[in-house]
Amino acid sequence: MKHIIILGDGMADLPVERLGGKTLLQYANKPMMDQLAKEGRCGRLITVPEGFPPGSEVANTAILGYDLNKVYEGRGPLEAASIGYEMADDDLALRCNIINLQDGKIITHNGGNLETDDARLLIDYLNETLAKPINESLGCERVKFITGIQYRHLLVIKGGNKHITCAPPHDHPNEEWRPLLVKADIPEAQETADLLNELILKSQELLPKHPYNQAKVAKGERQANSIWPWSGGYRPSMETLMQQYPDIKSGTVISAVDLIRGIGHYAGLRIVEVEGATGLADTNYEGKAKAAIEALEHDDFVFVHVEASDEAGHDGDLELKLKTIEYLDQRLIKPIYEHILKMNEPVCMAVLPDHLTPVEMRIHVGQPVPFLIWHKAIEPDEVQQYDEVSCVSGSYGLLKLNEFMQALMTEK
Ligand SMILES: [Zn+2]
Repeated sequence: MKHIIILGDGMADLPVERLGGKTLLQYANKPMMDQLAKEGRCGRLITVPEGFPPGSEVANTAILGYDLNKVYEGRGPLEAASIGYEMADDDLALRCNIINLQDGKIITHNGGNLETDDARLLIDYLNETLAKPINESLGCERVKFITGIQYRHLLVIKGGNKHITCAPPHDHPNEEWRPLLVKADIPEAQETADLLNELILKSQELLPKHPYNQAKVAKGERQANSIWPWSGGYRPSMETLMQQYPDIKSGTVISAVDLIRGIGHYAGLRIVEVEGATGLADTNYEGKAKAAIEALEHDDFVFVHVEASDEAGHDGDLELKLKTIEYLDQRLIKPIYEHILKMNEPVCMAVLPDHLTPVEMRIHVGQPVPFLIWHKAIEPDEVQQYDEVSCVSGSYGLLKLNEFMQALMTEK
């Protein structure tokens, strides 16, 4: 049997007064998910292990069956995989934002809406003027900047120590940046912390001299005038899904989000590009459905991740979040379901979110999420609808972390 997971990021919610006390999944018109819940079996899943923040990278890694305590290395290594940088064993990879500072404070975490093409020029410039002199003085390639997307880039320190505390810049708008500099957690990491702080300070001297920033000053717009590294880690030691589950010979991940693609890469999945996949409600649902259907033809395992609900939740946009649930239902799950009915080989399909992003809170909440598992021959339970409340009485009960993947792969 083949397996496909369809994940609506942040799709679960809390009861909303404006909807008569219903959650969005209860209120939305989503006949496909309800049919699958009715014909299949449901349950709830704890996706965030104790001691971890309810981040998408954490929850998605847990859903794929991994023990976060063993494999979690932060965003840097996941984004490295997503942009095609193969980490060496002694690499420390950090997410490196290019941000905007003013009067000693972090103003934005995004360098004033920096575009990728401009960012590439700044990253090349930093490699030439900042990394190169350090590497030459050390006689090795110690420091390397790698272009990512928009304001989100990568900084690799060969031989760096990961036991440091860095401040995620989006958590500190309008705060003074000096107290937020990198700190060593253990004495052995002091050299790494010092090096990172030196890079931050020097970038603040160099970046304002670049023509891109000079033009911004002339126009009275925000400069991209400092690097800000954070969430560093080593190459994750993850066994692939193929090594863990004999039924999976090959698999695919379909997502617009770097972190999810990175998890997929280390899990041994092929990353498929879908044109027009934006991570927002305007994403190319049909393109993702088509890519998933194609992947099901030659792979045993497909992970489709759709970010749109999470973004709508962060925006606190109730109507938009309802729409993203209905789009997922009709424009993604339905065509995949219809294709599965025509396939000779049986396919088991699961639908779930990774965490709640309640529209009235606009942040992630790590409560249990509802899930459904369906295939043609499954013995249905009593659940008639797919939502947070109905799934409480599902026959899988309340599962924890890797128990979901085990339950899914037991369906044969
Ligand atoms: Zn998420």
